[in-house]
Amino acid sequence: MAKRRRRRKTPQMTAEDARHFSQGHSTRQAMILDMAAAERGCNCEPYQDWFTYGRWRAQGQQVQKGEKGTNLAIYIETEKEDKETGEITRGKRPWHTRVFCRHQVAKREQKQAA
Ligand SMILES: [Zn+2]
Repeated sequence: MAKRRRRRKTPQMTAEDARHFSQGHSTRQAMILDMAAAERGCNCEPYQDWFTYGRWRAQGQQVQKGEKGTNLAIYIETEKEDKETGEITRGKRPWHTRVFCRHQVAKREQKQAA
């Protein structure tokens, strides 16, 4: 039988959600972003001026064409269900994400209603 994959719907992120980091801040990531900002020659602050494509979008901003993101190693939370007991084991696995600073985005143009 085909394995049924549970598809989790991603709820629409609000601008406020987009600026909130439920997993807290990482000193290591902050350091990487400080370095990335220095390299770019800007003063963008980690967790204030750096967001993923989706988080910028939720804030009404659009990553500009040709802008290169900065890679961050992160952990994402996983859930594994035991087929027999139905017990759910939560874990973490390494992942990566790409973030852009404030200078790489611009306000998204709102389409005027025709
Ligand atoms: Zn910047």
